[in-house]
Amino acid sequence: MHGAVIHAPGDVRFETLDDPEILEPTDAIIRTAVTCVCGTDLWPWRGLDATGEAHPMGHEYVGFVEAVGGEVTSVEPGQFAVGSFATSDNTCANCRNGWQSNCVNREFMTTCQAEYVRIPNAQGTLVATEEVPGEEFWPGLLAVSDVMGTGWYAAEAAEVRPGSTAVVVGDGAVGLCGVIAAREMGAERIIAMSRHESRQELAREFGATDIVTERGEDGVARIKEMTDGIGVDSVLECVGTGQAMRQALHSARPGGNVGFVGLPHEVAIDGEELFFTHVGLRGGPAPVRRYLPDLIDRVLSGRIDPGKVFDLTLPLEQVEEGYRAMDERRAVKALLTP
Ligand SMILES: [Zn+2]
Repeated sequence: MHGAVIHAPGDVRFETLDDPEILEPTDAIIRTAVTCVCGTDLWPWRGLDATGEAHPMGHEYVGFVEAVGGEVTSVEPGQFAVGSFATSDNTCANCRNGWQSNCVNREFMTTCQAEYVRIPNAQGTLVATEEVPGEEFWPGLLAVSDVMGTGWYAAEAAEVRPGSTAVVVGDGAVGLCGVIAAREMGAERIIAMSRHESRQELAREFGATDIVTERGEDGVARIKEMTDGIGVDSVLECVGTGQAMRQALHSARPGGNVGFVGLPHEVAIDGEELFFTHVGLRGGPAPVRRYLPDLIDRVLSGRIDPGKVFDLTLPLEQVEEGYRAMDERRAVKALLTP
């Protein structure tokens, strides 16, 4: 089979790889329907995370169950299945508490920009759809496996409530999905921070009521101006830089909440400052598995269409162009078709 391998920053190759095999009785093999490039894949592409030895890439997938191990009964070959980037047994204490992305048997997916993928913990990780969905739903279901689930968690962690006001920091795919989540959870005012026209448009389509183009402390000042100097109930931090986190913390009102889902890079939080703001803070890798049944329903019923975040479609063999287009911000998110 073929898949993407990163050799060094800016060097992702489409290569012939060994076909994945069932290694544990809890594994399944998926034949990829569609996969994609994630914003977090850009950290090693840009050299901001060490690449180390050449290794496969990708953690988002939807596809057809090809084979299952002896202990997997929840899905069967031929079914179409969606799973999270963090695999989980869905039975341990952390899973039962709803934190499947902190499963004691968790394994992060790392080989999904490929024609076939081995899924550990398949029994707890994969959710099969009732029937094979039409191809028009595949991008939306793929979004559910990571960016939509992550945007959902950001809104939940930020405690978005009906009638509340939310700010979304970050206009990448996760931030845009965060807008969808805030709207679905009933936020009355959703302020998207973006300076890119096409992303602003999509944010409005997804439910943003206001756009703020200023960044950093200027962005905070603008938010304060819009909220009688108080700040907002909920902030979804979907970037992961120090500046984005400061902007998020400073935009929340006293007693407000920040949900942070951008993978933190050089984010430092001043404990004393946080203490005096009364702002609540929760982040982490999203427990996407908990949301899968609900989000799959919302996509298949046409209630939400997070697949619109894919504004570039490439054959999998052109995966490197997907990285390049996202790095240069020519594309929000690149869909890859095997
Ligand atoms: Zn578990």
